[in-house]
Order: sequence, then C-alpha cells, then structure tokens
Amino acid sequence: MLKYILLLTSLFFVTTQSQSQNDNPKLVVGIVVDQMRYDYLTRFYNKYGEGGFKRMINEGFNCKNNHFNYIPTKTGPGHASVFTGTVPKYHGIIGNDWFDEDLKRKVNCVEDNSVESLGSLSEDGKKSPIQMLVSTFADENRLFTQMRGKTIGISVKHRGAILPAGHTANAAYWWDYDHNGNGNWISSTFYMEALPEWVNDFNSSGIAESYFKTWNTLYDINSYIESGTDVNEYERIFDGEKQSSFPHELAKLKNENDGFKIIANSPFGNSLTTDFTLKTIEEEQLGKDNITDVLTIGYSSTDKVGHDFGPNSIEIEDTYLRLDLELERLFNALDSFVGKGEYTVFLTSDHGAPHVPSYLEDNKIPSGLFDLNAMLKDVNDLLFETYKVSDLALSRINNQIFLDHQKIEKHNINIQELKAIISRKLLSYKLISSVHMTSVINKFPSSSSYQETMLFNGHNQKRSGEILFTFNPEVFKDTPWNRTGTDHHSGYNYDTHVPLLFFGKGIKQGETLKRTDITDIAPTISALLGISFPNASIGNPLEFVID
Ligand code: ZN
Ligand code: ZN
Repeated sequence: MLKYILLLTSLFFVTTQSQSQNDNPKLVVGIVVDQMRYDYLTRFYNKYGEGGFKRMINEGFNCKNNHFNYIPTKTGPGHASVFTGTVPKYHGIIGNDWFDEDLKRKVNCVEDNSVESLGSLSEDGKKSPIQMLVSTFADENRLFTQMRGKTIGISVKHRGAILPAGHTANAAYWWDYDHNGNGNWISSTFYMEALPEWVNDFNSSGIAESYFKTWNTLYDINSYIESGTDVNEYERIFDGEKQSSFPHELAKLKNENDGFKIIANSPFGNSLTTDFTLKTIEEEQLGKDNITDVLTIGYSSTDKVGHDFGPNSIEIEDTYLRLDLELERLFNALDSFVGKGEYTVFLTSDHGAPHVPSYLEDNKIPSGLFDLNAMLKDVNDLLFETYKVSDLALSRINNQIFLDHQKIEKHNINIQELKAIISRKLLSYKLISSVHMTSVINKFPSSSSYQETMLFNGHNQKRSGEILFTFNPEVFKDTPWNRTGTDHHSGYNYDTHVPLLFFGKGIKQGETLKRTDITDIAPTISALLGISFPNASIGNPLEFVID
C-alpha cells in the first residue's frame, strides 16, 4: 500500500513538474532602450503603430511608475541592475568607469585584459563581465536548466551586451563602431574561441555599410508637433554640418565623424541591431525547444541621439518612431519563429535624461552646468594651501572624491580634518546640493531620506570614492561636449523614471501606478520561470504582472 502511495506521489510530481516546465516560455527577451524617459511612451503615443510599443501596452502590463533606486543613473550600472535585480552596492558596477585606487587609473566596467578580441583588433573587444560580482537571472536560468537553456546578449555598446547576459552566457555580441572600429559584430575569448561562421558571414554581408545613408524624418517634418523646432541652439552639430537640422547625410559625414560611429549615433544603429538579432535568433535556434532561452537586446542608439540632440528634438522623436517599427519587426519575427504566445518580453531602460539645461533656463526652470575639473583643481589648491602637499584628491569621477592615501599617510595628515575641509568647500558651490562621507553613508538607517538611500544603494564600499556629492536638479557636468544635448547621472525623476512593459507568455494585461523599482524586474522573471532569484537580488516579484 505504502509503495502504491509513493508511486502515485512520484507520478503526481513527475506530471506537475513536466507541466510546469512545458508552461514556461520558450524564450525570454529582455529589451533595454538606452536613455528612454518614461514620457517617450506617452508623448509619442499617438504616432506609434499597433505592433511595437502599443502592442506591449495593449496586450501586456504597463508599470507606469517604475524607477531606478540608486545613484548614479549610468549605462553600466543600469544594465547590470535590470538583470541582477540588485544595486551597485552589491553588483559592483558603480559607473561606466571608476577610479581604481590600486591601479591609480580609471577602469571600464567591462574591461578584461585577460581576454582577446574576436572579430577586431581593437581594445573594444577585450571585454567580459568579470567585474560584475553577482549573477543575472539568465545565469540562474543556465544553472536551472543544466546549461541547456541558451543565453545570448546583443547591443551596439559592449556593456549593453555583456552585463545583461551575465557570466554563463553562450555569447555576447557588440558592434565595433567606436575608435574608428571596423563595423563588425564582435565578441571576446571569454565566450568562445572564434566567432561562429554565421557572424563572419553577417560581417562581410555589407549590411552595416548599407546604413551610410540619408537620415530624413520618417514622416513629414511638419507633423512632429510633439517636439521643438528643427533648428535651435540646444543641439549638437555633427562635424561637417553647418546646423543641427534634417537631412543628416551619413555617407557624407562618415569621414569626419569616425566612420561607423555616425551610424551608431543615428537611429540606423537600432535597425542594424534588429538585423543582427533576427539573424541570431534563426542561427542559434532561440526559443525552438521547451527549455527556456534568454535573449537580451540593448538598443543603444537612442542614448547617442539623446546625448547629441536632447529630449525635445525632432531627432529624438524620429528615433523613437523608427524604434517602434524595429520592435514591430522583432515581435513579428518572434511570432513566426518561436510562436505567438510562446515567448515573454520585457522592455525598460538603463536611465532617463534631463532636458537640455539651456533650454530649461530659457523657460525659467532652474538648471545648470558644473565644471568638475575646475572644482577638483580648486579643492587641491585649497588642500595645498593647508598641507603643502599637491594633488591629495585624485579623482572626482561619478561625483565621488578619491583621496591619495599614500600621501595622506606619508605626510601624517589628519584625514577627518582633510575631509571636513573638502566637504565645506564642496558645499560652498551653488549647484552642489549635498555632500556625504561614505563612512556615514554605510551607516544610513533604512528610514533615511530617499536621496540618501539612493546614494547608499549606489555605493560600493571597496570601489567607490570617500566623499560623495549631489547636484541640484537639472544640473550636470560642464564639458565643451555637454553645452548642448543632454547627460544623465542623478537621482531625480527625469533620470530615474523609465518605462517598464511586460508582454507575452505568463503576463497579465493591465497597468499600475504603484511604484516599482528597477530591481523588481529580475525577480519577476525568475518567479515566472520558477527559478532561483539572482544571488544578490533585493527586488520583489511584481505579483500583479504574472498571470
Ligand atoms: Zn545608457
Ligand atoms: Zn548616456
């Protein structure tokens, strides 16, 4: 009798287990649209077609009050946080670059000199996720499926491909556009010994070169009433152009703008990303069996167009109307290759962006640009006056001051006194709103004000600087490059509020204005798949999203 019951129970478990496995999506697609403000969904809504953003909204779930929960809101930390469900404090990606106190230089968040580039001789290929300290949900899916479920990450930017896909990815591919790159989709020996033949074929197909074409508006330029005028003084001008207006003739501009980089800085970088993604899905047979695969896609050109032209430009509107068509092309391909209702998609961003400060100023909204290099010099001059030791402050990267501890010890300087001098000096600047000692930040009680919690979340005790400061709203760093266009880094709403859309298998139809955090995405997907949460995830599964 007991034997019989045991047999029944084990049969029961076998069926439920296989049912739940068959119930999982065949493919999870995580899309990050670089620098997508939440209001790009609403501002351009009437112009979007039915098959892209609107399809996600109408068939899926729209989390309308979704935010980043740490400072700084930059690309590397953003991509890492979406897929790990945790914050820079734990995943360690505290910026796109940070100052390494041992190496005494800036390091990039995905640099890895122990690997070789594949598809390029450029340093831009020597990249891997080794500096990310934790797992992504894609890593957990690989462990759960005994490495049978595939993971592939794709983005024009290396960090946009590498960090989402995680440590166990079968491949990450990024585009060699920067530093006069060769226009190939490339990878590194972290993932494989050589590029697959189909990637080489894609690279020699001439598809990338075909985007050296004229960027004109998709529709009649007079219909772009959601944006400012085409000619204005808030936008960057491509080298070789006289003003920042349509059309932008990329073939003519390529020599003066680092070759393929001009494509990355136009909406065609996103089109090329879709081209390469569709080829990847087909060649790698993603979503073709019942074991869940993960595909991560970073649409990076939106960020580059945003930096150049700012949120209010016709260029940004046109880039989003074109991206909407790219999403439709992607979803149509997934419908036919994987099957309608067999895959799950989420779409979010890695940070938002403020309006161009001079545009805000012209409209009486307080804003500004802050010269960080001049500030660092002022601080060092002041410290020299006091201690007669030069360059005691080494770096101000990511609004964090790094100190030269060797000099401080050698000259027997009282570090608390030195920090107090720096702190008073920083607070004397009109555009700086707060200054914090990291020794204090690490002791913040959970009831701290929100900006303080965001600094706490963004602060890694081993990698971050010792004094952190924040600017007033709508202030970012002054460089010749930043006087037009936009930049992002802060904990204010324009940088933290980004779209979060889910659709497809296992997702309810609906919307919420309840606040969600960027760190909730990875645990939500993990819960949907029934797999372990990423190892350092601090977010909560969004129950109301899951069917
Ligand atoms: Zn970004
Ligand atoms: Zn950016």
